Amino acid sequence: MAQTPPRVIVIGAGFAGLSAVKRLGRSGADLDIVVLDRHNYNTFQPLLYQVATAGLDAGDVGHHIRGIIRPYRQAELLVETVARVHPDQRLVELDTGATLPYDALVITAGARTNYFGVSGAQEHGLPLYTLPDAIRVRNHVLACFEAAEADPSLVDQGALTFVVVGGGPTGVEMAGAMSELFRNVMRRDFRRIDPENARIVLVEMTDTLLGAFRPRSQQHAHEQLAARNVELRLGARVTNIERTRVTLESGEVIPTRTVIWAAGVQGNDLTDDTFERIRGGRIVVNPDLSVPGHPEVFVAGDLAAATRRDGTLLPQVARPAIAEGRHAARQVLRRLGGQPTVPFRYHDPGNMATIGRRAAVADLPLHITLTGGIAWLAWLGLHLIELMGGMHRRTEVLVRWAWDYLRWEWGPLLILTPAPDPDLATSEQEQEPGAP
Ligand SMILES: Cc1cc2nc3c(=O)[nH]c(=O)nc-3n(C[C@H](O)[C@H](O)[C@H](O)COP(=O)(O)OP(=O)(O)OC[C@H]3O[C@@H](n4cnc5c(N)ncnc54)[C@H](O)[C@@H]3O)c2cc1C
Repeated sequence: MAQTPPRVIVIGAGFAGLSAVKRLGRSGADLDIVVLDRHNYNTFQPLLYQVATAGLDAGDVGHHIRGIIRPYRQAELLVETVARVHPDQRLVELDTGATLPYDALVITAGARTNYFGVSGAQEHGLPLYTLPDAIRVRNHVLACFEAAEADPSLVDQGALTFVVVGGGPTGVEMAGAMSELFRNVMRRDFRRIDPENARIVLVEMTDTLLGAFRPRSQQHAHEQLAARNVELRLGARVTNIERTRVTLESGEVIPTRTVIWAAGVQGNDLTDDTFERIRGGRIVVNPDLSVPGHPEVFVAGDLAAATRRDGTLLPQVARPAIAEGRHAARQVLRRLGGQPTVPFRYHDPGNMATIGRRAAVADLPLHITLTGGIAWLAWLGLHLIELMGGMHRRTEVLVRWAWDYLRWEWGPLLILTPAPDPDLATSEQEQEPGAP
């Protein structure tokens, strides 16, 4: 039954969801906009690796959703987890069992870590997808150093070997930032161990880093990581992860207590089998981003299998998500206004990734490729502009980054964990009495 005013539910307040809410809110249309998210904060995922490597605080990349939607009086937030969608009844079901009717639905629930069925990856890998994930990685990495300082024999058991799985932007950024943290910051603070000797091993299944980038950018990333002593294993597949080691398909065994899993994502499954999905769990959409057979349901962001004009899939990154969210909102307004919807068109502004200080790559339109310091400045400027929280927040982060840059000072090197990480045994024998 139609609601008065019409109710538009937006599932997920990430890049796509918030861009949809802003567009709906700014339209001034008489709507009841209900935003559902399981968190009361939005995460700026591109900078999660900075939280994981103590470069930024959680509050710099997590933003209070209520504050963001405050200007839009028609919008309300319910911090709830959606269990599934019943498109035939036009109902959203929450995990509490409660249901909410809608007139139009925008699904932007994003994705989650994909372990690709690798044995032990889910149990022992550290994902880097959410803010709690990033804080957990930070706690764990710092705790490894503390454990090794207390018992340097742990170094031979892999306590200071950090394996990153996945050579896409997240893996590259994470490996580069860890290297700078260990070699330029932490080396000053330990007496019994030398953090400069910590190993960082980046394992990538294909033969190249940054697969979606141009060859020049890939080459630059390769050189810059090698210059930062990151050991690269390209064309290498992880077959098994245990608490104290990683095994590669080649038979190489790397003793380690830390495997950061940055290998891929898969769409969130809140719609069960209701909608058709392709590989990676992305929902099939029409050119206008509506779901086939359900013109009142739109999908945007990482969860949508949105394509370019030539039919190729758009990458699961922030810019398409923002553009798709905005487009979905426009189509909702058109539909409610009795107008036909229009197809989504995406203008690709390019790709960027950073490897470390003054080292980044940017593949821009018109075949322009920037590498090194200039790409790094472009990356810095763009990320500062895109950080939410207003001018004061951006200025604060800029000043902090500038200070850190000049002094090699670092952000919060604090281990904020309620209990010791079980993966960090004081010695292998203690946890595994039967181990050789
Ligand atoms: C570590 C990392 C680094 C990245 N770096 C970059 C980068 O440098 N540049 C770039 O362009 N892109 C980057 N990305 C990708 C980019 O962040 C995503 O493409 C973008 O966040 C997708 O937006 P979205 O709105 O589809 O999903 P998200 O931003 O993930 O938002 C989904 C929202 O849905 C909510 N949600 C999920 N399930 C439910 C449920 N069942 N009930 C209620 N709420 C739910 C979540 O809490 C979340 O708020 C990175 C991603 C990661 C993980």
